[in-house]
Amino acid sequence: MSTPTIGVLALQGDVREHLVALAAADALARPVRRPEELAEVDALVMPGGESTTISKLAVLFGLMDPLRERVRAGMPVYGTCAGMIMLADKILDGRDDQETVGGIDMTVRRNAFGRQNESFETAIPFAGMTGEPVTGVFIRAPWVESVGAGVEVLAEVPAADGPDARIVAVRQGNLLATSFHPELTGDHRVHEYFVRMVEAAAR
Ligand code: GLN
Repeated sequence: MSTPTIGVLALQGDVREHLVALAAADALARPVRRPEELAEVDALVMPGGESTTISKLAVLFGLMDPLRERVRAGMPVYGTCAGMIMLADKILDGRDDQETVGGIDMTVRRNAFGRQNESFETAIPFAGMTGEPVTGVFIRAPWVESVGAGVEVLAEVPAADGPDARIVAVRQGNLLATSFHPELTGDHRVHEYFVRMVEAAAR
């Protein structure tokens, strides 16, 4: 296929870093703020930032329903951190009126790592990724508390407070989400993984 056009939801958050990472992963990247702009892209990234703000602005800009429709119609979407929260069917510790786009059958806990550590970095083995583990940058990050049967777990980190691991990357169909921010590391393999998903979806 020709080079896919991938939008970055540009309401709030680290939009520019994703535009750079997508371009490095050989996609045409452009910001999306309006429904007409959403209609023109093959796929979308929802960036890190503040999910309560992104959610509020998505409603205000008339994007929430178009986003849900595109997700239902199979548009590939990659959400990092706040973007992961936006892709969750259910959230814990959200604001009472906080809406999500949904699409991934998972429950995500907001600011889950934030109570112990505001921010940390760790090496994460990522399913299907060759080479070195991915560097996970976690900034007041959520974790995935539980997933439905159709959700593939791609990465976990050991839990600080028990024997369990915490899920930090998942995929369900054309939807991909990570608790961490590959757009901040200069390692574009997760964006490349997403671009391959977008190309496969177009075939
Ligand atoms: N804590 C933020 C939220 O709830 C997410 C932080 C991030 O995206 N780095 O939206």
